[in-house]
Amino acid sequence: MRDGDPLRIDLPPALAAVLDALRHGGDEAVLVGGSVRDLVRGDKPADWDVATSAPPETVAALFPGATWENPFGTVTVRDPAGGRGIEVTTYRVEVGYRDQRRPDEVRWGRLLADDLARRDFTINAMAWLPDETADGSGRLVDPYGGAGDLEAGLLRAVGDPDERFNEDALRLLRAVRLATRFELRIDPPTEVAIRANAPKAAGLSGERVRDELTRILAGAAPPSHAFGLMERLGLLEVLLPELVALRGVLQAKRLEGDALDHSLRTADALPATDPVLRLAGLLHDLGKATTLADGHFLHHDRDGAVLAELVLQRLRAPRAEVTRVGRLVRHHMFAYTPDWTDAAVRRFVRRVGVDLLPDLFALRAADDVASGVEEPPGGWRVLRERVAAVANDPLEAQQLAMTGDDLVAQLQIPPGPAIGRLLAALLDAVLEDPTLNSREQLLALARAMASG
Ligand code: ATP
Ligand code: MG
Repeated sequence: MRDGDPLRIDLPPALAAVLDALRHGGDEAVLVGGSVRDLVRGDKPADWDVATSAPPETVAALFPGATWENPFGTVTVRDPAGGRGIEVTTYRVEVGYRDQRRPDEVRWGRLLADDLARRDFTINAMAWLPDETADGSGRLVDPYGGAGDLEAGLLRAVGDPDERFNEDALRLLRAVRLATRFELRIDPPTEVAIRANAPKAAGLSGERVRDELTRILAGAAPPSHAFGLMERLGLLEVLLPELVALRGVLQAKRLEGDALDHSLRTADALPATDPVLRLAGLLHDLGKATTLADGHFLHHDRDGAVLAELVLQRLRAPRAEVTRVGRLVRHHMFAYTPDWTDAAVRRFVRRVGVDLLPDLFALRAADDVASGVEEPPGGWRVLRERVAAVANDPLEAQQLAMTGDDLVAQLQIPPGPAIGRLLAALLDAVLEDPTLNSREQLLALARAMASG
């Protein structure tokens, strides 16, 4: 397919209605970006992006209930059928970039050609111009040969690649994501420009980088493809030097490779539906670079947790995500043996936290796959079953049959650290033997402890 070719599309009725409303108002309205790329590839678009010559005020006025997100001129029209909503964006012309982050100024444009010219890659710079929305007939607008590039399996920047990456360094990462997602080779001049501009990725905001990385990790392609490509292009050392530090760190594993190969394989072995868990897999051995000296990576789980949290803070990840990944890395080395008593299982659950267990076992399974380890009989999968068996035992101070207030009242000890220590000791006793968790027994125990 090429520029100007007819292209018929099965338009969902809500989308046809949006295009019609804009066209009846005398404006041009087209499909653009990812949705056209997906159509040309023969895929069903995940969402529909409409672009129009109408300014945002006009668009918003046409669709009651639409939300208008400044300053990008994107109006989201509600889908009456209850879909994700259709994004309508006014044609843009971008003027001047000073900082490789954001255009200094975005101007609404009147011409589709201008709007396509500001897009990143040829495969994303195609539009579909409707003739008749009733039968879905229209034409492909493809001034940069995106359809041909898709066919040839090529990712190519629109216009001068060096200029384009200089304008917005996020495109460096987008190139990696798109190339791996659609299995495209990067056109040599574009690749040269990526390498040359890679250091500029350091100036990107953590949020934007994290967003791209998450999209990579949530993709169907194995993360090792994208992260491997980032390494070869010089982007990984700029964005995640902690990972590059694992290159050359040798380890005695059945599978070949160093600690970075192992980390990438671990991410690959985790599900794309949980990109944060994949991220934990990617980062779980960061501590091996700093604990290499003793030959045993002693405490690499502890060092690694600190490093992983620093990485995520740099990426401005939400607190809950920083904590989740940090805890997973911290606990990933748990070493179960069949001689663990039930009390040991309970102490393990308490240490790790009930909420973390499914993720922690999933991480261990991936770690095993990535190491070529076959679990021996009586391995951690037995622990996973035993954990379920103790799930209803008291594991937290709040589950004790006595509260701190009870202790204060019964033992005439003033509230304070002494009460905290007593509660902790009572919990230890109950972890050892859950049948002790009754008021009378706990009170007797507490009395004995307080006097002894
Ligand atoms: P996906 O299917 O993953 O959503 P997409 O191509 O739709 O892929 P978006 O991030 O939703 O990706 O962007 C929509 C369109 O906006 C792209 O197809 C591209 O034309 C344009 N675009 C997005 N980000 C940039 C950028 N940083 N520079 C230039 N054009 C961009
Ligand atoms: Mg999109």
